Amino acid sequence: MIGYIFNNSKAGKVGYSLPPSDVPKAELPKGLVNEKELDLPEVTEVEVVRHVTAMAKETYGVDTGFYPLGSCTMKYNPRINEELATLEGFVNLHPDTPIEGCQGALEMMYNLDKHFCAITGMDAFTLAPAAGAHGEMTGMSIIHQYHKSRGDTKRNKVLIPDSAHGTNPASAVASGFETVTIPSNSSGGVDMDALDKNMTDEIAGLMLTNPNTAGIFDPNICEIARIVHSRGGLLYYDGANLNALMGISRPGDFGFDVVHLNLHKTFSTPHGGGGPGSAPVGVKDFLKPYLPVPHVAKNGDTYYFDYNMPKSMGRIRATWGNFLVLLKAYCYIRTMGPKGLKQASEHAVLSANYIRVKINDLYPEGFPGLCMHECVMSGSPLKKFNVLTKDVSKRLMDYGFHPPTNYFPLIIPEAIMIEPTESESKEMVDSFIAAMRAIYKEAEEGKIDFSLTPLTKEVSRVDETKAARTPILRWTKKA
Ligand SMILES: *Cc1c(COP(=O)(O)O)cnc(C)c1O
Repeated sequence: MIGYIFNNSKAGKVGYSLPPSDVPKAELPKGLVNEKELDLPEVTEVEVVRHVTAMAKETYGVDTGFYPLGSCTMKYNPRINEELATLEGFVNLHPDTPIEGCQGALEMMYNLDKHFCAITGMDAFTLAPAAGAHGEMTGMSIIHQYHKSRGDTKRNKVLIPDSAHGTNPASAVASGFETVTIPSNSSGGVDMDALDKNMTDEIAGLMLTNPNTAGIFDPNICEIARIVHSRGGLLYYDGANLNALMGISRPGDFGFDVVHLNLHKTFSTPHGGGGPGSAPVGVKDFLKPYLPVPHVAKNGDTYYFDYNMPKSMGRIRATWGNFLVLLKAYCYIRTMGPKGLKQASEHAVLSANYIRVKINDLYPEGFPGLCMHECVMSGSPLKKFNVLTKDVSKRLMDYGFHPPTNYFPLIIPEAIMIEPTESESKEMVDSFIAAMRAIYKEAEEGKIDFSLTPLTKEVSRVDETKAARTPILRWTKKA
């Protein structure tokens, strides 16, 4: 069906009807008038409708099926939160409304800040940053500002483990630091000797994801924090995916000084499709003066934007941040409650470990042992059948599943990173496991040509570089 509209254009087919013009024809200045025939497909209305519907049917999302994309938390988001975020009073709120006219919105932001503090163990949050990477840049700029204000100007490097998300080094550099890579140890955690050796008086801090992108919780976290702090560094926590920790443990209690959260992963905003997202950044008390302006504050019974922050790192975004995304997070936290959030984390961790032990005889885990909200397996054993991780992923599409994350983290060969999240039923997880096992068997038997998979989709293998660099985004008439 896709391509129908492109292939069935025929001169004279019309898909609209307009009444005759009842105003005089206006003369346009020469040069602005298009003298050439437009290259547009000529089709009927029903053909357009079918084309658009066919395209929509090819779109895959959490609402259509299981989406185990690791490091991304593609979970189902309760519709009630979407509905509340469309309430007129919020949607139509003008950004320049005087504070007496938007007390409710400010109160929501003030309370959300407090909820994030309770969940993470931090003391204050800015709600302004618009995405994970933006939050990282905000947090690292706060760290930069902190050292600078103390005259500690030698600290211009940041330690980042080799398992880190690619945005970490990019954000550190964007905030004026150089990066030093710390290798992982044999269990997937931070190599303590390397940390010890590299934690010098030139290091501003350590950026850490815990559980990390291998799905592993680093048991040395308290010792890591001690080493970094005792030598004058600060700890930055990449909390893009908080789905393993909510209600169970808190980065603030591990010793982290700065934290960001991706609301578009963990807190009820759909992830993907280009946003809008939001990544609030939380800090411990001693860093509060460095937060971006303005900060939502309260004086007696009145909420307001505090601009009087002389040590602030400055402004990072428009005053309200992505307000409606914040609102969804607020509704999510309030409807789930402390017990519900904890249950979500427990369920997410259980699902990931269930998948891990049900397939690790065929796809061994990158690092053995319990994982957190995601499990990272390896497709290496299939290499002997000339089948790679990406082939497994393409074949999964034929079984009706969105592929997991592939080839990340880089430290695990043929990585298959699976994040089932808490929102899937056991039946759905079981059918995914069955598909993974069936695909292994297909590879072993060698009866299908994996290089042609997916076999059931409109498009099979695309040249991914070409698709990204020179996409064809509009119809042109065939010569
Ligand atoms: C998604 C993610 C990020 C980046 O978040 P964006 O909103 O895509 O910028 C950073 N770190 C980790 C661990 C992530 O999973």
